[in-house]
Amino acid sequence: MGASTQTSHQQQPGLAVQGAECIYRISDLCEVLERYLDPQEIRRVYDAFLFSAEAHDGQHRLTGEPYITHPVAAAYILAEMRMDHQIIMAAILHDVIEDTPTAKKQLEGLFGKDVAALVDGVTKLTQIDFKNQAEAQAENFRKMILAMAQDIRVILIKLADRLHNMRTLGAMRPEKRRRVARETLEIYAPIAQRLGMNVLRLELEELAFSSIYPKRYRALREAVLKARGNRKEVLGAIDTGIRRRLSQEQLEGEVISREKHLYSLYMKMRSKQLRFSEVLDVYAFRIKVDRVDTCYRVLGAMHNLYKPIPGSFNDYIAIPKSNGYQSLHTSLFGPHGIPIEIQIRTEKMDKVAESGIAAHWSYKTGEAVSGKNQAQVKAREWMKELIKLQKDVGSSEEFIESVKIDMFPDEVYVFTPVGDIMEFPRGASVIDFAYAVHSDIGHSCVAARVNRHPVPLSTELHNGDTIEIITSRGMAPDPAWLDFVTTARARTRIRAYLKNLKESEAIDLGRKMLDKSLANLSSSYEVITSKQMHALLKSMGLKSVELLLEKIGMGNLPALMVARRLLPQAVEKKKTPWSFLRRFKKNALPIKGTEGTLVNFARCCYPIPGDNIVGYTTAGRGIVIHRSGCPNIAEQRNHPEKWVNVQWESDANLEFRAGIRVDVANKRGVLATVATEVADRESNIENVQIEERDGRMVALNMVITAHDRKHLAAIMRQIKRLKPVTKITRNQG
Ligand code: MN
Repeated sequence: MGASTQTSHQQQPGLAVQGAECIYRISDLCEVLERYLDPQEIRRVYDAFLFSAEAHDGQHRLTGEPYITHPVAAAYILAEMRMDHQIIMAAILHDVIEDTPTAKKQLEGLFGKDVAALVDGVTKLTQIDFKNQAEAQAENFRKMILAMAQDIRVILIKLADRLHNMRTLGAMRPEKRRRVARETLEIYAPIAQRLGMNVLRLELEELAFSSIYPKRYRALREAVLKARGNRKEVLGAIDTGIRRRLSQEQLEGEVISREKHLYSLYMKMRSKQLRFSEVLDVYAFRIKVDRVDTCYRVLGAMHNLYKPIPGSFNDYIAIPKSNGYQSLHTSLFGPHGIPIEIQIRTEKMDKVAESGIAAHWSYKTGEAVSGKNQAQVKAREWMKELIKLQKDVGSSEEFIESVKIDMFPDEVYVFTPVGDIMEFPRGASVIDFAYAVHSDIGHSCVAARVNRHPVPLSTELHNGDTIEIITSRGMAPDPAWLDFVTTARARTRIRAYLKNLKESEAIDLGRKMLDKSLANLSSSYEVITSKQMHALLKSMGLKSVELLLEKIGMGNLPALMVARRLLPQAVEKKKTPWSFLRRFKKNALPIKGTEGTLVNFARCCYPIPGDNIVGYTTAGRGIVIHRSGCPNIAEQRNHPEKWVNVQWESDANLEFRAGIRVDVANKRGVLATVATEVADRESNIENVQIEERDGRMVALNMVITAHDRKHLAAIMRQIKRLKPVTKITRNQG
């Protein structure tokens, strides 16, 4: 009973049957499977059925049937396309998991990883809520669905699921019916078209059309049926004419008269502003032949038989459509000037035209079909074929790009809380999302929720996620965010913010420094009049006080000099209490060329002068100096732009920390002995950790101070001479 639905529908397009003949039994399914699957494979399908029937036991569809009839029907649709047994199994199981990981695990155990992954993929697609979405976003939805289904078979199952739901739409409330129908027309039918699955697409369109515009559908349908009687004679005459001409030319081909689908008639009326009689007054035929060159010979014969309508010929064999569709299309003036449309194509092209990408999963005996990779390989094969088709005729890169983007997107699509879709590069994080919404949201974000669950800000975005950003007043971007943002927008905004922050910090620091210098001249920043300040700015050619303070804070302008120019008569006090300014004195800089930059020494490898070093820049935190052999820098290799070449300043006589490890015999007073030796060499112990090795030996991990490598080497030599010391090494990091 089921098999006839699809075929009769194909032959009588435009007269879609809704609600009728949609109940499939497992026996109907097995009957179709027996035509192309192995008995063991059918057995596995049957096992999946038993599991699914049990899972759905007691559930019913709105139509009143037991729920299991729905997944079996979806599987049936796929079986008619001769899909492999994994797709059929997954289709039967497609509604059994509702986001419970245990259920997925169970399916894995029972039916294998591939089937479980397919079911999981379909479940995820189903969970996307289209309800509140704007129509304008349909394009993005389609992309998102394609992006979500890493295995294209997931989409095939989803389409079969949707087709059966559309066939049984009648049971739903009118309002919901219209919504589902619109979604089908806007999202699923175009996806089917993109994948070249035209038979399925046409049925989806017909069903959706009849649900959205039931009156127009009925009127059009009645008119078509009425016209059919009148058309019969003309149709017969043209058909005979075509056949006769083919046999005269000794050309073999199957001639089929086609009736246009109601939805395409409707669209044609709407787009071309035609009246019903005008759209219907077209007679359409298809001629199927064996080989490509026969197509062109048949075309010649037809142009010979009836006069072609100028400008109506399309060669989709030489230039295939982007979904792989190939055919010759021409329109002719028939008897009494009646317009005739003819499609000419090979059997193979016809198969592609009907099922597109699905043709690639058609079961072929002896061919092992398993695994997601295999599925991906097939999808790529299909794409390769499309590209080859286009390359043969030397068409544009653009086409290849469009197919690639559609089929294998590098983007992820996520929802805002109000249902807008936003597109991001793969690997983008919640922070990228926040900045895409608004810079202020980015700057002030403190936490996020993905699908209502709280997540850290570094969380990567996944297709279909709904993202909600929690902001807080007074928050500021963290330089660490730069490590996990991928969009240029977020990166630029964070950098700009940090740069501003740095300026304002410099201004703050500059003010403090100037105040101290003024204090040294028995004055203070508060008592400087604006007149004094303006005179100074003018003499120095500076535009604002902030600029002056920033220059001081950045170390570009000595505070004492500024203070003296402000108060030329003042007498300097003897002592300078601001030793903290030492890092701005040129001769005290440990690293060359770092005036005004914050320099830190890594606490993992403790570099000291004489070591080979590299600098790692972090916005807002200055440069961190590591020893070039430090294992921690390997992790940052991915950010070469952050590394800077640095050199020690030769005459900087400062103290640095260094980490050493001393293996000693576990004796009373051994630490004191070592400590004395360190102190004797003008070094300090900053930290010691004692590590018990066995009863007799301990290791001392110490952080000590040293001026440079030479100094450190001298200290280590001294320690090594001590009796209880067996080994001394410098820690690498
Ligand atoms: Mn379903």
